Amino acid sequence: MSVFSAPAFDGHELVSFCEDKSSGLRAIIAVHDSTLGAGVGGCRMYPYASDEEALHDVLRLSRGMTYKSALAGLPLGGGKSVIIGDPRSDKSRKLLQAMGDFIDSQSGRYVAAEDSGTGPADIRVMAERTAFVSGLDDNEYGGDPSPSTAYGVFLGIRTAVKHRLGVDSLEGLSVAIQGLGHVGYYLAKHLVTEKAKVYGADVSSENLQRAVDDLGVIPVDVDDILSIEADVLAPCAMGAVLNARSIPAIRAGIIAGAANNQLATDEDGASLQDRGILYCPDFLINAGGIVDVHHQRIGLPEAQKRAHIQRIEATLSEVLRRADECHLQTQEIAEQLAEEILASARASRGASLAAVG
Ligand code: NAD
Repeated sequence: MSVFSAPAFDGHELVSFCEDKSSGLRAIIAVHDSTLGAGVGGCRMYPYASDEEALHDVLRLSRGMTYKSALAGLPLGGGKSVIIGDPRSDKSRKLLQAMGDFIDSQSGRYVAAEDSGTGPADIRVMAERTAFVSGLDDNEYGGDPSPSTAYGVFLGIRTAVKHRLGVDSLEGLSVAIQGLGHVGYYLAKHLVTEKAKVYGADVSSENLQRAVDDLGVIPVDVDDILSIEADVLAPCAMGAVLNARSIPAIRAGIIAGAANNQLATDEDGASLQDRGILYCPDFLINAGGIVDVHHQRIGLPEAQKRAHIQRIEATLSEVLRRADECHLQTQEIAEQLAEEILASARASRGASLAAVG
């Protein structure tokens, strides 16, 4: 397996591999950039079809975390880890402890939080072996950052609607949510409260039914949700859903959701722009969760966390304004803005080192 020439490598500072035969752990930790701080990001457990697929995923996710934390104004770098295995059948206490040891061996360059396939209980087991974890019981949802992610995505939708449709309220507008899991459910709750019409689809009939029963979400077939006629499409299930096959059929004018890496390729961002669909970069509007994790770690009051998440509105407005002015993709502009933040941090660090020297 080639690492340096992997398409998603992009100058990663650290890529570390672990195979622990006694627990069955096979895992990768990646830290993309630590200019702003230690690489913080979720630990994902997934039954990857190959080692290459796992490497590609961890590199893309870790780079996304660099941009996400920079745009969210957090003193954190970009990192991520993946455990290769099925969370339903391969997870054990021994394996999670071995993951804790692996995280600890990076001496703080990487700090883990929960991600798909892992939850606060798993992170607590890792914490038996390392202090370099976040998201442990210190918010009103027992450490779960998903409600904060959903709040940030909701603010993103409101900002995009104002920008594109010129209205302040979501009342009467329709939103189609793909995936009614941790984030999708709370997002639907915000939207229903604002009197939006919410369509939803989920491969889990249990999760779909919960949203239908609790919130009055209108159920839609999983094969139809991406192409349903709606004002906003909110992908909240998995990555790479915006691709050459799905984009021609999309009828929503705005896409704003929580899933990481929604664009399968850079060309897909261009296709959305060509079709006049306003795409809100995922790593910008789904940052509520990492803001929550950071606030849990430093223990600031709830009101400060909420105010911090609300900054997503101003940042997204700036990205949408610049994208209109320059006729560039919103994703490109968001990445440029993050690079500007990183460059200025590097420059001020360089200046203070020179002053010391
Ligand atoms: P989750 O696993 O709780 O929910 C995902 C839901 O999508 C599940 O109910 C699942 O059954 C459903 N699903 C899977 N494939 C589907 C398909 N093809 N069609 C319809 N539904 C499908 O995950 P989550 O924590 O809600 O996160 C959702 C997305 O947001 C993920 O991509 C995650 O990486 C991203 N994200 C989550 C957070 C967070 O705080 N949880 C933060 C940032 C980004």
